[in-house]
Amino acid sequence: ERTINRIAAGEVIERPASAVKELVENSIDAGATRVDVVLHEGGRSLIDISDNGIGMDAGELALAVERHATSKLKDDDLVHIMSLGFRGEALASIGAVARLTLSSRAQGAAEAWKVLVEGGRKGQVSPAALSAGTRIEVRDLFFATPARLKFLKTDRSEFQAAVDIIKRLAMAHPEVAFSLSDGDRVAFRAPSIGALAGDARLERLGAILGREFQENAIEIDAEREGLRLTGYAGLPTYSRGQATHQYLFVNGRPVKDKLLTGAVRGAYQDYLARDRHPVLALFLDVPTEFVDVNVHPAKAEVRFRDAGLVRGLIVSALRHALADAGH
Ligand code: ADP
Ligand code: MG
Repeated sequence: ERTINRIAAGEVIERPASAVKELVENSIDAGATRVDVVLHEGGRSLIDISDNGIGMDAGELALAVERHATSKLKDDDLVHIMSLGFRGEALASIGAVARLTLSSRAQGAAEAWKVLVEGGRKGQVSPAALSAGTRIEVRDLFFATPARLKFLKTDRSEFQAAVDIIKRLAMAHPEVAFSLSDGDRVAFRAPSIGALAGDARLERLGAILGREFQENAIEIDAEREGLRLTGYAGLPTYSRGQATHQYLFVNGRPVKDKLLTGAVRGAYQDYLARDRHPVLALFLDVPTEFVDVNVHPAKAEVRFRDAGLVRGLIVSALRHALADAGH
């Protein structure tokens, strides 16, 4: 059983950044408005995540680390659940390959509780000191699967992968304050953006992609056959050089898809030299059944039922917005 769990765990958790992704998504799901992440040695020796979400009581805490335990499954929601994949697997998977401590205080509760899981062995739930929310500490990731350790890159690149994950999640959630520290050093911070800030999404994108982007971005808002595309795209006159900063979110989740690169190239081809990369962040909202079930969430890939429709929507929305902006 334990061996199987460890093999399965490797499917979901490939490196510190994938654990960070799962844990921070849990914090967001729990309604947190602030999430603080601390990594040591690129997350290899410690991933420490605190949130101010709704928390868990003692019973929920014990259940949370069981395989296929999820508080998010609704009876009629199977297609949706499947489309996100691996529901109720993240904590169990991390517990199978690391030393995991979960501490939590349910909203309004008088006391906090904690539980430890080491290489799949779950301890007793015991009292903890925590004023609110949930804290998850992951120590010695992959100590139980040494082969996996060999695939990790330098601390620096593992940390950078976590920065990338946090930035993407922060783009999709302007209402949540994030910080990410490398030991004592805060490497990334995004304050929460209140409703009064005008366009919270553009503000947050500016905080992450740069104020120059914010000043050179046009709004995207288009709809086709039940698919809605919103977001911001940089003007062709603005480019950040070699690195690609093109982000796609599907139903609020960051995804990586080659379709985006091609569609963006198609839309900008009359305006930009081939070696220039427009900067943009697009948010696609689709009916859940439109996203294929055979995807690997840890790799953030998606498969659309009709990729041509998505591509067409992106190209035409960008072309129209660029034309309206006088290009
Ligand atoms: P899933 O997110 O797919 O439900 P996980 O293994 O990631 O599966 O988490 C299991 C359960 O633990 C969640 O359904 C949730 O009830 C609880 N949980 C995990 N993280 C948190 C958190 N930060 N705050 C509150 N509850 C949490
Ligand atoms: Mg989860």
